Formats: sequence, structure tokens, C-alpha cells
Amino acid sequence: MRIAVVRETRAGETRVALVPDLVPRLVGLGHEVLVEPGAGLGALHADEEYAAAGAVLDERAVEAADLVLAVQPPDVGTARRIRRGAALVAFLAPGQELGLVADLRELGVTAFAMELVPRTSRAQSMDALSSQSLVSGYRCAIVCAGLLRRFFPLNMTAAGTVPPAQVVVLGAGVAGLQAIATARRLGAVVKAYDVRAAAAEEIRSMGAQAIELDLPTLDGAGGYAREMSEERAALQRELLAPYVAAADGLITTAAVPGRTAPVLVTAAMVEAMRPGSVVVDLAADSGGNVEGSVPGEVVRLGHAQVWGGRNVPAQMPGPASRLYAQNVVSLVELLTVDGALAPDLGDDILDACCVTADGVVRHEPTRALLE
Ligand code: NAD
Repeated sequence: MRIAVVRETRAGETRVALVPDLVPRLVGLGHEVLVEPGAGLGALHADEEYAAAGAVLDERAVEAADLVLAVQPPDVGTARRIRRGAALVAFLAPGQELGLVADLRELGVTAFAMELVPRTSRAQSMDALSSQSLVSGYRCAIVCAGLLRRFFPLNMTAAGTVPPAQVVVLGAGVAGLQAIATARRLGAVVKAYDVRAAAAEEIRSMGAQAIELDLPTLDGAGGYAREMSEERAALQRELLAPYVAAADGLITTAAVPGRTAPVLVTAAMVEAMRPGSVVVDLAADSGGNVEGSVPGEVVRLGHAQVWGGRNVPAQMPGPASRLYAQNVVSLVELLTVDGALAPDLGDDILDACCVTADGVVRHEPTRALLE
């Protein structure tokens, strides 16, 4: 089977769907790997590395492929170059990319969305949401440490003692827990809050103090959080305000599937922070946990610098691409039998993440949006 690796076309996208180190794994399974020239450059992988690993550089890789691998939803031009009957694996954002989904349906492409891979134990090796969140969480802690003009760790020196930075993390899913772990490794004192019942124990297991508010927990389906009512949101903000005001660094990572990010921190809460404080809003791209944060920018609010995340995994393209590629290769293994594309759409993982197949939109929420 021929597998194509596309050169991403979205502005700011530096990742690549397959890194050279993983080419031999696909070649070993009997596949031919075709790479669009320059596909790896954003992640610092030269064409020569792919060639040395056994791939073929080919400007017409997409046209020739049985299976196309990408990170972002392909643009119209790329999508329309995919052969009828071929498959596509990428983050597809099907709820937003309705035009693309309609195209893939008309083109007879079998399309799999990485963000729809279920978060089950069996699918763990294909869980790109987790792998990219891990990168984002790490990056958030490093950005916070970089912008903060003080030490993260306690320093006891002959010249006196410098206390450690106080960091508060709101939202303790995959990204938040990684932000906690990273900030702890750098020596900060970390407190964290999440609405899910299981989160407090997970926060403590990372060496942070769990902030426990006198509020009911909000567990939704599939281990995710439920949306807050406006009344609860206001109360949560009021109860969190003293923790935010006392923080040197605030990192927010809260999300609710299918919704814009909840506003956890108002501009007034940021303005109550001390001079030199830093706020890192990972959710800025999806509406923002912090009022006034701007994706891709550092803005000043009161005495604080507020950093808004925009495509944060792409800020660490090497490790983000490597992890994503591992997820993708695991999915490719599930899609193939004896080296040929043979997706069993009765398989629970493939059933969940297949958006289009045989000229129909299989993913029901997306089909409803298209009707
Ligand atoms: P996510 O990106 O959807 O959300 C990030 C975090 O924000 C979540 O922990 C959520 O509870 C929290 N949040 C939402 N509203 C909030 C609010 N108002 N205030 C504070 N926090 C709020 O979540 P995620 O990181 O993708 O993971 C969510 C869950 O899925 C976790 O329980 C995680 O352990 C679980 N998970 C399981 C698997 C698996 O079993 N294979 C894999 C990955 C994640």
C-alpha cells in the first residue's frame, strides 16, 4: 500500500504526520512511504532524513496514495487530490470543517478523524488528543516560567532565602496534569483545581495541592467534565479569586467537549494579581478561560502579562510530531490487513473515528449538521 505524508498548508502549522524514525516501521509492514518534499521542515526533518529512512520524496504523493496522513484538516486543493477509494487520517475538526467533510464524501474518501479516536485503554496508543495535550501542558509551564521574572524553586543561599513561585493550575486533564508535573519539577509550589471528582487525587499524585471548593463536582460522560451553569460559574470564580490573587503564575487548561472554553477567570481577577504575575491561557484558541486573553499574543491586564495559546503543540513540533506519528502508525496498523487497506468499520475504534466512507457521512453529529 502507498502511504502519503502531506506538507501541511495551514499558517503556523509546523508539525508533520510522520517522522523519519517511524518510516522503517511502515516499510517493514510492506508499505511504500511517499513524502511531499519539505513536509518535515517545520519539525526540523529534512527531506534527506526521510529518504535515508526508506521513504520516497514525491510532489504527487497524495495523488498516488492509498492512504494519506496529515496533521490538520487538508485544504480543498489537497483534499481534491486524494484518489477515490483512498483513506485519509488527520485531525479533521468535522464539526467546523463541513465543506471538507462534504468534499470527502463526494470524493469517496474513507476519512478518519484523530480527535474522534475513543479514549479507551485499547485505543490509548492512538490517542492523539492526549499526546498533543501532553506537549501543550509542558509548554504552558515552560512559558509561565520563562515570562515570570523570578525563580520557580526555593533558593537558599548565603545571601539569603528566595521563596519559590506560587503557581495555580485550573483544569487538571491531560494538559493540566502535565503543566503541574513540569512546574513541580522546576520547583514551584503548585495548587490546582478541576471540576471532576477524580481530579483531586490526580492533582495530589503530581505533588500539587488540590484546591477543594465547596461546590458539587461536574462529571459528564466519558470521563469528561460537564458544562457549568452561569450561576455556578460565578460562584466558582468568586471562590477561586483569592487563589488567583495569591499566584505568581496562573495556568488555565479547562475545556468541555463540544463547547467553547469556560471563562474561569475574569479580567478583574487578573487585575487583582501582584505586579509581575503571569497568566498562561491554553484555552485562548477555543474561547479562553481568561477574560481578555488573545490567542498567539501576550497582553497586559493590570499588572499581569497574559499569554494566549494558539496551536500550542506546534510550538514544540519535534516531540509533538513524533508522538502524533506514533499515534497515527498505531491507527494505520489497525486499518490494514497483510499490507492492504482493509478497515473493519465494525471495530469500535474505527467505528467511532470514521467520518466518511462509501460516499456517506458516518459520523452522526456531523451528518446532522450537514442535513
Ligand atoms: P479536556 O481537554 O476536555 O478538559 C481539560 C480539563 O478541564 C478536564 O480535566 C476538565 O474536567 C476540566 N474542566 C472543565 N470545566 C472546568 C471548570 N469549569 N473548572 C475547572 N476545570 C474544568 O480533558 P482531557 O484532558 O482531554 O481529559 C479529560 C478526562 O479524560 C480526564 O479524566 C482524563 O483522565 C481522561 N482521559 C482518559 C484517557 C483514557 O482512559 N485512555 C485518555 C485521556 C484522557
